[in-house]
Amino acid sequence: MANRIGIHALVWVGGWSEAEARKAISSSAETGYDLIELAALDPGNFDAAMTKRLLTEYNLSAGVSLGLDYETDVSSDDDDIVAAGRARLELALNLVRDIGGDYLGGAIFSRLGRYTKPVTERGRANSVASMAWLADKAANYGVTLGMEFCNRYETNVINTTAQTLDFIADIDRPNVVAHLDTYHMNIEENSWREPVLAAAAAGKLGYVHVGESHRGQLGTGSIGWTEFFGALREVEYDGTITFESFSSEVVHPELSSNLSIWRNLWTDNIELATGARQFIRENYGS
Ligand code: MN
Repeated sequence: MANRIGIHALVWVGGWSEAEARKAISSSAETGYDLIELAALDPGNFDAAMTKRLLTEYNLSAGVSLGLDYETDVSSDDDDIVAAGRARLELALNLVRDIGGDYLGGAIFSRLGRYTKPVTERGRANSVASMAWLADKAANYGVTLGMEFCNRYETNVINTTAQTLDFIADIDRPNVVAHLDTYHMNIEENSWREPVLAAAAAGKLGYVHVGESHRGQLGTGSIGWTEFFGALREVEYDGTITFESFSSEVVHPELSSNLSIWRNLWTDNIELATGARQFIRENYGS
């Protein structure tokens, strides 16, 4: 299979100084990955030129993901907040372009965090319109947008593959795909196989996060890897598969708290990354 195999930057570093970027990019390449996924919650303060230079030096691809916050939530009812969200997303899109990437995903349609009420009709419509607006800009640079549905504690806009496919149909742009994450699927889906088949049948299976049920090392939790990887093979998925894992060992000031990373699930990230790469090879084949 020709999948790109990626790893999330938070396995390596919590910030993105040149020293941190070099450590993350070199370690990703040395442990056998093709791509690093950068967490660009504040895309305006990301050194794109330095990042691109290091990616070239280590022959690595990059994708960009982020979750929005209160001030930039495009699923808000407040037009000023939606406008601030669009401005931040445009910065993120420009970052993807400037590092030579082709993917912008995550909770870009919503704040990443716990809501205490359901999304409103107007909020959902604001999010859909914002994604269509961003997709049209992204198309100019050959960038695909990934809608990563999250579990109910991290967004109220989309929590399942079926909701995500409906949301994407409403956005109605060719360069918008569904981003499936096993960590979130484990909480919200009925099956490992059916969502993969449904997304593929819609022509919208575009990006995959492999994460364990506790966000630690692959194969040490309760994710149904045989069923999930079997479904990816069944639909002949050839897109990116990125390993996501978080531990209190490596802390990003915002993202780690948004994701409720309170426990230390690993300390040695070289061992973690090497083991995860081997797990993917042995259980998936790529
Ligand atoms: Mn994820």
